[in-house]
Amino acid sequence: EDRLMLFLVVAFFILLSLAGGWVMDMLHNARASAERLALTDDLTGLPNRRHAHMRLEPMFTDAPGRGLSVLFFDLDRFKEYNDRYGHPGGDRVLEAFGKLLHRALPKGGFACRYGGEEFLAVLGTNALDVAVEFARSVRNMLARQDGLEESLTVSVGIAAWDSAMRTRGDILAAADAALYAAKSSGRDAIRVHRQAGAPAEPLSIAGI
Ligand code: GH3
Ligand code: MG
Ligand code: MG
Repeated sequence: EDRLMLFLVVAFFILLSLAGGWVMDMLHNARASAERLALTDDLTGLPNRRHAHMRLEPMFTDAPGRGLSVLFFDLDRFKEYNDRYGHPGGDRVLEAFGKLLHRALPKGGFACRYGGEEFLAVLGTNALDVAVEFARSVRNMLARQDGLEESLTVSVGIAAWDSAMRTRGDILAAADAALYAAKSSGRDAIRVHRQAGAPAEPLSIAGI
């Protein structure tokens, strides 16, 4: 009977530790999926703004060796589209735009939904021709996108890293200023931020 008792006690502790491991796994998985949700935009499935900042930070650190450029895409007169076709219609545009942005993205870069109808793409290169070509193909894909109530355009602001930039906020601000210039020029345009001290070459690219 002593041996039976011992056996039961040992069996009990073995089961207890198995159950403990199982509970820990469950907690770990629940935590991982909560983290994934907190970093993902649920409409487009793209990384959200918070996630973008997390990923941009190490890329900003690597920028002196690797290169870095960022692009802001902002849909033109999207409020009117919403007003005309309703919020669900607008949501379909955002979903489609998220997909095409992801499809057009060069290797090594990432795209996110930065806010309402504003998207950010980050490329691991300083080559403005690569960034501009990417922006052009996104604009062409949007123009050819079917299933929309009406065709839409997008404005793009681009900035490449330069050594005067101290934080990731500096390169984002530069791209945002270029986006503002694209909007001011009448929208449906790509503008590149001109670096301090750069020659006044025609870096800004008008609508195609
Ligand atoms: P602009 O050309 O200057 O960018 O004008 P705009 O109308 O695109 O810009 P504005 O910032 O005035 O309006 C953005 C609109 O985007 C307003 C808001 O209703 C819409 N929006 C933001 N988030 C969502 C969303 O998740 N779904 C839908 N359907 N609309 C959204
Ligand atoms: Mg807009
Ligand atoms: Mg906007």
